[in-house]
Amino acid sequence: MRYVKVRAHGKINLALDVIRKREDGYHEVRMIMQSVGIYDRVEIQFMGKLNTGYKIDIETNLKFLPVNENNLAYKAAALLMEEFNLKCHIVIRIKKMIPVAAGMAGGSSDCAAVLKGINKMFGLGLSEEDLKSRGVSLGADIPYCIMGGTALSEGIGEILTPLPPMPECYIVLAKPYINVSTRFVYTNLRADELTYHPDVDGMIAAINNNDFYGMAKRLGNVLETVTEKEYPIINDIKENMIKMGAVNSIMSGSGPTVFGLFDDVERAKYAYENLKASDYCRQVYITDGGNGDERY
Ligand code: ATP
Repeated sequence: MRYVKVRAHGKINLALDVIRKREDGYHEVRMIMQSVGIYDRVEIQFMGKLNTGYKIDIETNLKFLPVNENNLAYKAAALLMEEFNLKCHIVIRIKKMIPVAAGMAGGSSDCAAVLKGINKMFGLGLSEEDLKSRGVSLGADIPYCIMGGTALSEGIGEILTPLPPMPECYIVLAKPYINVSTRFVYTNLRADELTYHPDVDGMIAAINNNDFYGMAKRLGNVLETVTEKEYPIINDIKENMIKMGAVNSIMSGSGPTVFGLFDDVERAKYAYENLKASDYCRQVYITDGGNGDERY
C-alpha cells in the first residue's frame, strides 16, 4: 500500500481521578475517556525503498509544531520501522484540528493513528493489543487513543475497559488563549491532599444505564485543583457554559480546554456562538461523543 489515511480523534475526560503518586513518579489514575468528533487528518505516503535505514518526513499545517523526532507521529513511525526493519522513505502529513497542549490528547492521537497506519501500510499484522503495548512506551494515553470510544482507563492509562457509548448529547469545547503543559500540572498536583474525588463508579453505572443526567452531574476532574488556580479563566468559562444552558461543565485532562454537555442543540449552538464571539477563547467547537464529523 502506498498511501493510508487515518482520522486521529481528540478526547475529553468525563471523569479524571488521581488515586496516588507511585514510587516511580507516575500517577495512578481512574478516568472515563470519551472520543469527540474533532480529529486531525493523518496521511502516510510511501515515497520509495532505501538501501539502508529509514527516512521519515513530517509535514503539518501548524508551523510551531516539531517536525523532527520530537513529534509523536515521528516516534510512532520510527518505533515500528526500526522493529520491522522497514528500509524506506515515508512522508507523514498531519492536518491539526485538535487544539494543541489543550488536554485533548492531540499528540497521543496522532501517534496512535500513525501506529495503525504503518501497521496497515506494511501489512505488519499487529493486533490492537500489540499496538497498545507498543504505544504505551510512547505515552500513557496512547493505548486509549488506539482504541477510542468510551472507556475506563486505570493504572497509568494502560488498563482499559470499554464502556457503552456515552448517552447522546451535544458537546461544546472551548480553549482559552493559554497553553498548559501536562507535566506542569502533574508536577504541581498534591495527590495526597485531594479533598474531592469524582464518583467514577457512579458515572460508569450512569453510562451503562444510558442516563445522561446521572452522567452529567458526575463530571469531575481533580486536575482542576492545579490548572484553575493558575488560570482563573477556566472557571469563568465553566460558569459561562452553565449560564448558557450546559447541564454541566468541567476542564478536560490537564486543561485548559473546558467542555460543556448540553441536552438541547439550540442551547449548545447559543453557547458555541457566544464563546466564539468572545475575546477569551482561541478555539471553540461544537460536536458530539461519536467518531463522526463535526456536524452542527
Ligand atoms: P494530553 O491531553 O495528552 O495531555 P495535550 O493536549 O495536553 O495532550 P498535545 O496537543 O498532545 O497536548 O501536545 C503537547 C506538546 O507535544 C505540544 O506542545 C507539542 O510540542 C508536542 N507534540 C509532539 N507531537 C505532536 C503532535 N503530533 N501534535 C501536537 N503536539 C505534538
